[in-house]
Amino acid sequence: MINDVAIYRIFEIINRFWDFSQNPLTLHKPNLMSKKNTKYIFVTGGVTSSLGKGIVSASLGLLLKSRGFNVTIQKLDPYINIDPGTLNPYEHGECYVTEDGAETDLDLGHYERFLDSATSQNNNVTTGKIYQTVIEKERKGDFLGKTVQVIPHITNEIKRRIKILAKENYDIIITEIGGTVGDIESLPYIESVRQLRWELGENNSMVIHLTLLPYLAASGELKTKPSQHSVRQLMESGIQADVLVCRTEHKITKEIKAKLAQFCNVPAENVIESIDVETIYQVPLELQKQKFDEVVLKELALPFNQESDLKDWKNFLKKYKNPKKKVEIALVGKYVSLQDSYKSIAEAFIHAGASQDTEVKLRWVYSGDLTEENLAENFNGIDGMLIAPGFGDRGIEGKILAAKFARENKIPLLGICLGMQIMTIEFARNVLGLKDANSAEFDLTTKNPVISLMEEQKNVVDKGGTMRLGAWKCQLKPHTKLIEIYGNKNITERHRHRYEFNSDYLDDFEKNGLYASGINPDTKLVETLELRNHPFYIGVQYHPEYKSTVATPHPLFVALVKAATEK
Ligand code: GLN
Repeated sequence: MINDVAIYRIFEIINRFWDFSQNPLTLHKPNLMSKKNTKYIFVTGGVTSSLGKGIVSASLGLLLKSRGFNVTIQKLDPYINIDPGTLNPYEHGECYVTEDGAETDLDLGHYERFLDSATSQNNNVTTGKIYQTVIEKERKGDFLGKTVQVIPHITNEIKRRIKILAKENYDIIITEIGGTVGDIESLPYIESVRQLRWELGENNSMVIHLTLLPYLAASGELKTKPSQHSVRQLMESGIQADVLVCRTEHKITKEIKAKLAQFCNVPAENVIESIDVETIYQVPLELQKQKFDEVVLKELALPFNQESDLKDWKNFLKKYKNPKKKVEIALVGKYVSLQDSYKSIAEAFIHAGASQDTEVKLRWVYSGDLTEENLAENFNGIDGMLIAPGFGDRGIEGKILAAKFARENKIPLLGICLGMQIMTIEFARNVLGLKDANSAEFDLTTKNPVISLMEEQKNVVDKGGTMRLGAWKCQLKPHTKLIEIYGNKNITERHRHRYEFNSDYLDDFEKNGLYASGINPDTKLVETLELRNHPFYIGVQYHPEYKSTVATPHPLFVALVKAATEK
């Protein structure tokens, strides 16, 4: 049966051969003229920050993908850092790493977890990157003597970065603009959206504005005035919002929708409620109930008669909400007062737990407080442990104590990146008897640097973007737990670190039971360690958490949850 999506695809194929893009008359009619008629959705935020633009964007992406569209999501961050790689997690939460080695905003993690597709360098743009590119061009003389200005040079670069994704053959690009409308930092982005909307022509782009309806307990009312103001502020910048998504703690009445519609120039059905729900994974379904995806497709003049298929998503939610078992896993780290710092790890446990019909309760343990004396109390009753990634020496000795506790008490333990390095140091000190064993990151003078700096890293001075980053190959050895877990000999996983297992010590480790089960086939670096005669004691130099999605829970997290259940 030929439906609208099929017809749309046929048009696309015709368009690819029939390229009218050179004709200036086509400027306002790109519909049938451009090679691929990519549609653009811009998501802005008003009233306050932290309203969850990332989750709304990811949810919309999922809804559109479930109707057969090829969608990607991009984040524009208005700060001047080139990327969040050098930011303290307390400032900006976890730094998320893509396959191609970009250090990015944690929202990209949500995009990947919801859409189950990889993002790249192009999916995260910062003001730092924009200015760096423009200034480099200026130094080369590319502007031919012209004065370089925010408009047009900075805005042109922003527009180029938005449109660059269209080359990757997407039907729809969702661009989330960080910050809040009215911020000085956001102005060039908002202006770029204004220009792009005009250039792209009717029905090829839209703006979704996420806003807050505060609840006044004293009068028992939801208030619309802040939203009216933020929509007006957008209009002052030349942008009319097409859809309002309203964050709220209480149900929005028809009257409130009508009022917002009237004051903000949008149809009432384009006012969408985004009420607080118990899990972020519920959000797409709440939005779908209000036909959010249909409203969006209508605005973009896209066909929507292909039923959306969220069967697997609903199944995941059902399992997540109705667990049959429960385990408690200690997450040992140093940023435990801010759980956003370990976002991908926490989410990976949700995916893995649901797949096993198991509720995974995380016990956040601050490693800086751990001592020999309080270990047993801190880990009392836990079924598993994860030692988190990290940088710097704060809380290191506590993590070493935790690794020893898990090793001696046969508690399933997964060490990620720094976590694996900690397991190495602990084993060297307490089993191999190398009392001063350490990582060169924490003690440059140690005689036993069991974790050391790679040769290529020795002359690196800059901190930003210079670690071993992104996807690297790893080959798993036969008869190891890991090959059983992955069901595959050749894997690739994402990295973000400077220091490595020092292979000079490998023989000694292996003779004593801690063996390398995965090796990088090109560099021969040790990527994974496993302990013999222990139910689950695995350290990985890479970050499995970045690759876990709702559709594809990561096998290592699944295996840890299983091991914890068996304990
Ligand atoms: N600090 C360690 C290194 O640079 C580990 C980094 C991490 O855990 N991501 O090698």
